This record gives sequence, C-alpha cells and structure tokens, in this order.
Amino acid sequence: MKDHPVNIHDMVRRAIRAQVELGLGEVIVTGTPVKLEENDLVAQMSSVRKVSQTADMFDPAVTVSTTPQYASLEDHFNAMCDCQRCSLGQTRNKLVYGAGNPKADVIFVGEGPGADEDRIGEPFVGRAGQLLDRILAAIQLSREQVYIGNIIKCRPPNNRDPLPEEMESCFPYLLEQIKIIKPKLICCLGRVAAQALLNTKTPLGKLRKQWHDFHGVQTLVTYHPAALLRFASYKRDTWEDMQMLKARLDELTGA
Ligand code: SF4
Repeated sequence: MKDHPVNIHDMVRRAIRAQVELGLGEVIVTGTPVKLEENDLVAQMSSVRKVSQTADMFDPAVTVSTTPQYASLEDHFNAMCDCQRCSLGQTRNKLVYGAGNPKADVIFVGEGPGADEDRIGEPFVGRAGQLLDRILAAIQLSREQVYIGNIIKCRPPNNRDPLPEEMESCFPYLLEQIKIIKPKLICCLGRVAAQALLNTKTPLGKLRKQWHDFHGVQTLVTYHPAALLRFASYKRDTWEDMQMLKARLDELTGA
C-alpha cells in the first residue's frame, strides 16, 4: 500500500492542533506509522512555540482607561482600514475590523478572520459564528448587544496561527477599540486570543474558570466556537463559562 504524505501531514497537524487546544503544555507526537519530513514537523512545532512567545507584546504602560486616540470606532476604522503594518495586509481580501454595539458591556475577542470572514469582512460569520450566536442567545445576549473583535484583523494564509510579530503589529488596534468602547467585561475565545490578551503562556485549560484583569477590565477565557465544532465535549465547559460571564454581567449592570 502506498503512503499518502499529504494525508499524514494533515493528521499530524490535526493532532498538534488538538493537543494545543486541549491546553496541554507541550505537544506530543507519537505512533506516527510513516516517515515524516523532518522539516514539516519542525515547522509545525516552531509555529506552536512562536505563539507562546508573545510575552513581550503588550506594553503595560498603556491602560484601557487611557483616553483613546480616536473619538469613535468609525474614526478609528477610517484611519486604519488600509493597514499594511504586517504582511497579512498583502494577502487579505477584506480587513475584518470588528462588529457590534460601540457601547457594549462585553467584548468577545477571537483569534483572527477565517476564510468566510476574509471574504465578507465581518467577524464570526461561518459555522463558528453561527454557534457563537447560539451561545450568546443561551445567555440572553445578541450580536447587536455585544462587540466582537479579533486579535488580528487580516486572515493568515491557510488558516495558520497568527505569528507573534503579526499579533504585535495588530494588537494596538484592538487596544484602541477596547479603549473607545470601555466594556465592563472581556471574553477571550480560544487559546490564541487568551494568551495574547493576557500576556501569558499558560495553557487555555488553566486560564478558564477565573477572572483575569486586563488593565482594569475583568476578563474571562473560554473555548473558541470552532473548537466546540470539533470537540463537542467542550460544550458543557463553555456553558459553565457563559453562566459565569452572565452572572458577573448582571451583577455589574444591575440586571
Ligand atoms: S493583520 Fe493587523 S497589522 Fe497586519 S495588515 Fe492586517 S490590520 Fe494591519
């Protein structure tokens, strides 16, 4: 029987991705019954390592309570919508700025645009987006009530993880959005968003179920809806996270 290297590589990629999303501190590749191209595996592993090297990307001198540079999200968007700060500006179809209520009490922050988002220019519009809508509805929220953004605003080719330098280039835009909106709560969707926003290498599993402080804004971490589509067992945990978010939101808004 002939080997099918492309399928095997896909399998290894999926295994690595699954382990990272499960919040394991290190990636284990075992039992691969075929010869792997060493460079492919090294490339995958270095991509995993690079994501955990985001520790210096956030400048602690900048705080959410600082007066924003722009008076509105619209002004901010108009100023940055042609951005070419990193190489993703060359490969995107549409920049995905963010969407929702400019006075939202909660901001949901994901990793970055996928293929559907890149095509349409809106965050979370594919299957993961539909699931996010259902998650919001389960805690009596709608897309129109919250704000949804991403750590990076342009799609990385082939849906790879954003590189640290890309996140570093793009992060000031998200920070400015947060400063303009001034939310009461932030909810990070998935490992990449959580580690970037919280400036940590801690695995996602250990970041959940507790409130973090993002320069004065209480911040919770849960799974990315795309992970729920792949691993249905995350749904119960996500439901518990959303209950925690809703309870704190009701407390803060007097609902
Ligand atoms: S990802 Fe961010 S920094 Fe890079 S080009 Fe797009 S908007 Fe600019």
